[in-house]
Amino acid sequence: MTLIIGLTGGIASGKSTISNYFSSLGLVVIDADVEARLAVEKGEPAYREIVAHFGSGILLEDGSLNRARLGEIVFSDEKQRAVLNGIVHPEVRNRMNAKQEEAVKAGSPAVILDIPLLFENKLDATVEKTVLVYVEKDTQIQRLMDRNALSLEQAQLRVAAQMPLEEKRVLADRIIDNNGTVEDSQAQAFQILHDWKVL
Ligand code: ADP
Repeated sequence: MTLIIGLTGGIASGKSTISNYFSSLGLVVIDADVEARLAVEKGEPAYREIVAHFGSGILLEDGSLNRARLGEIVFSDEKQRAVLNGIVHPEVRNRMNAKQEEAVKAGSPAVILDIPLLFENKLDATVEKTVLVYVEKDTQIQRLMDRNALSLEQAQLRVAAQMPLEEKRVLADRIIDNNGTVEDSQAQAFQILHDWKVL
């Protein structure tokens, strides 16, 4: 039996840090961001829809998407964000489903679906268990500024555009408190897998 686990967090909450740890344990991790990037590669159906809606101004010279430009547009405009999500998410789902099926067929003890918008898009209904990587807001903003070289205002804007982690806490089956060290968070992650008899 393969346990299907949804892993989520907020921007810079430490989700990638934890999903890398799960990978290092030999578990199958399917990353929605990676699949989203593949889904919008030049020539893909989602790419064509995005260009049709947002215009060729969101393309780089080589014809690939200017992700930074697109990011600017959708981070500051909820409607445009919804349009982009409506184009990209179904494609991402298809890709993730295919990889999940592969892992189930191969008899993997668990599949980790790394999905930033797990709760927002009600994808928690598609997994058996959910794990939230949680961090307090001040630490989240500081780590985001450090990682992405953003100003305080830019980091605050990105965090404010998301569902608060406090709201996600209530929805998750288990929480990894990532306010401490990475090692401490890894230990929490290991314990969860142990409790769920994955390891
Ligand atoms: P996410 O995938 O949720 O956006 P990351 O895993 O990239 O978050 O973590 C955000 C930033 O914070 C990264 O630069 C990462 O190295 C750092 N980080 C993550 N967890 C910790 C921690 N426990 N202590 C210190 N820095 C951390």
